[in-house]
Amino acid sequence: MSGAAGGRVDPMTANLLNYDLDGLALFCEGLGEKRYRAVQLFRWIHQKGASRFDDMSDLAKSLREKLRGVAQVQAPPVISQHISADGTIKWLFDVGGGNAIETVFIPEDDRGTLCVSSQAGCAIGCRFCSTGHQGFSRNLTTGEIVAQLWFAEHFLRKHLQRDERVISNVVMMGMGEPLQNYGEVIPALRVMLDDHGYGLSRRRVTVSTSGIVPKMDLLAEQCPVALAVSLHAPTDALRDDLVPLNKKYPLDELMHACKRYLAFAPRDFITFEYCMLEGVNDQPEHAQQLVALVRRYGGGAAWCKFNLIPFNPFPASGLRCSAPKQVQAFAKILSDAGIVTTIRKTRGEDIDAACGQLAGDIKDRTRVGERIARQRSWTIQPVATVTTPVTEN
Ligand code: SAH
Ligand code: SF4
Repeated sequence: MSGAAGGRVDPMTANLLNYDLDGLALFCEGLGEKRYRAVQLFRWIHQKGASRFDDMSDLAKSLREKLRGVAQVQAPPVISQHISADGTIKWLFDVGGGNAIETVFIPEDDRGTLCVSSQAGCAIGCRFCSTGHQGFSRNLTTGEIVAQLWFAEHFLRKHLQRDERVISNVVMMGMGEPLQNYGEVIPALRVMLDDHGYGLSRRRVTVSTSGIVPKMDLLAEQCPVALAVSLHAPTDALRDDLVPLNKKYPLDELMHACKRYLAFAPRDFITFEYCMLEGVNDQPEHAQQLVALVRRYGGGAAWCKFNLIPFNPFPASGLRCSAPKQVQAFAKILSDAGIVTTIRKTRGEDIDAACGQLAGDIKDRTRVGERIARQRSWTIQPVATVTTPVTEN
């Protein structure tokens, strides 16, 4: 295997996964090449999953030669791959310095969603999140963010033997706070949205944030994709405790920022995520306070949706998940008040791939084929343990 996922990123050459199309055009310009060459190259990388310049048959030979000396297309090495009984796949990537990040693919009948990490660890330190408990290691580069999609999309195409797109949705809900790594996240989003890249609709790319208000405004202006805000509490006192960032950007500021975002959002609502914690934020009065909170900012209740997430416990949290009945009663109060409310189905629990369970722990490799084949609509050819990407044989 050469020149693809599974190898080390060579620090001496430019990793082309780091560039959005404008960035790649500049890089090519530096080599004395026109923009249309960059478009060709970009399409080879992202649409075909190519990593070897020799495979890029319609690129001028002279350009291929130039590239060979100065550039590479390389995802971080895959440490492990786990396939859940429900078809969810979790990959652990080695991003160096003892850090690992996780990426999760969630197949559903009508879509394929990739949950992407933006940081190794996270500095926000939410009480109910195992990534938060891990602390912050570093920001991922654009290339490390894009590599998760590049690798997963082309791996899945190959193993599902599909020519067309497999991943239809991306959610920045893996490890890390995407808006604290704004500068690297934006070009990565552009690669996802670019018609010459993955061509994903803005409505199907979601940034999830714990509420970095100034960056929400910037995102609205520079790259308005779907927005999910991790709310988790109806009052400042409770939110200060669960999401420490609330002390910096309290609820009133956050709610105003959400309303401002709506003017730019590709959808006409903001999604509020709400992790259900037994005896902490799951009482009927909390639901009533949420209704009042939402209504206070005008437009009735139709400007947002709630996604109730059953808490995925982990030992250090000292917290428990609300009983299903409690979650349903909570959802009913919100729905009765006219707020569209869903209860998130937990996926990939058996492989620790559910929300908040991503902590970069290193596990054994598992077999791909047999387990994913159990998923009804996603038949995959059985293969052995994987790390091979796309264009390699
Ligand atoms: N940092 C961003 C995105 C990553 S977290 C954010 O906080 O929004 C993605 C989602 O998983 C967030 O809504 C987060 O609150 C939720 N989450 C974190 N830990 C969880 C846990 N243990 N159980 C359920 N959901 C959790
Ligand atoms: Fe960071 Fe999001 Fe986890 Fe909070 S929930 S610690 S912001 S990853």
